Amino acid sequence: LPPGPHSPHFDAFLAVVHPEDRDRVAEVVGRVRQQEQPEEFAFRTVSPDGGVRHLSASIALERDERGRPVSYHGAMVDVTRLKEVEASLVRLAATDELTGIHNRRRFLELLRSEMERCGRYDHHVSLAMLDIDNFKRINDTHGHGVGDEVLRRLSATIARALRTSDVFGRIGGEEFAVILSETSPDMALAACQRLVRTVADTGAVTSAGVLHLTISVGLATAYSDKAQPEGMAAGRLGCACGMDADMLLRLADQALYQAKAEGKNRVCRFEQRADPAPETAHEPSETASVVLPDAGCDDASSLDKKDEKRT
Ligand code: GH3
Ligand code: MG
Ligand code: MG
Repeated sequence: LPPGPHSPHFDAFLAVVHPEDRDRVAEVVGRVRQQEQPEEFAFRTVSPDGGVRHLSASIALERDERGRPVSYHGAMVDVTRLKEVEASLVRLAATDELTGIHNRRRFLELLRSEMERCGRYDHHVSLAMLDIDNFKRINDTHGHGVGDEVLRRLSATIARALRTSDVFGRIGGEEFAVILSETSPDMALAACQRLVRTVADTGAVTSAGVLHLTISVGLATAYSDKAQPEGMAAGRLGCACGMDADMLLRLADQALYQAKAEGKNRVCRFEQRADPAPETAHEPSETASVVLPDAGCDDASSLDKKDEKRT
């Protein structure tokens, strides 16, 4: 509209308001009719070509000397650009600068809300912690810049290998984590084994050539009592810690530590004793059992150990 006074019919005005904001805008306008004070509110409009604009508005009602409504007066400021800047700041604050995936703060926020949601619906949540093996060696041999390229390549490789519903973040220098929800503990384990194999098979294309690369993974699953998968002995594969994010992080970290100790390039799953004593059930004192990458892993000693474990 060109600048100047405009008096479109209220329905015509409402028709350009974003459908999700329409009821609220009508409510504010109705409220102003009942009160003396003006109102300030924000809403969106949709133009015929589908473009969305954000507006900040104020509205007041003019009354005659007997208090009867005469007309509305309003002012609107287009704050679309401001909203875009605001949204990009929020995005930046949640994103890891180097890899473009969730940063630690955002990842932990998502983990807590996912655990809360799964607790409400009695689902279980698996958390995988990933750490690059011998990453310091890559930095020392090829320089920090190539190390950064490896971090970027690796996160792209992992992101490609995950489902869109998985949440992937960088939680430390060369440490990553994945939330696998709506997945059975065994499916989560299989997914982690696939990740380990994919990384070992793919390596990382860098300016110093294709570098061989492996990761170690620690996996832990939390579930509410009701969500315990069928056929699973009490507390066996998950953590009987309820939906406590900090505890789950510690257990996954403990399993990761175990994966490193067992020789790297593998997944370890946190496993709880079958019958945890009630007073220790909430302590992450149990050991992680080793699950080695299966066929396809070129680490012969790993395969030997796997056979030992099965006997
Ligand atoms: P391990 O197999 O036990 O995990 O050994 P590692 O060498 O991977 O682990 P360590 O903790 O000894 O070294 C991690 C290295 O990661 C040291 C640090 O300089 C490097 N690092 C951390 N953040 C970054 C980063 O953003 N870029 C680069 N290039 N290197 C980083
Ligand atoms: Mg590390
Ligand atoms: Mg490492």
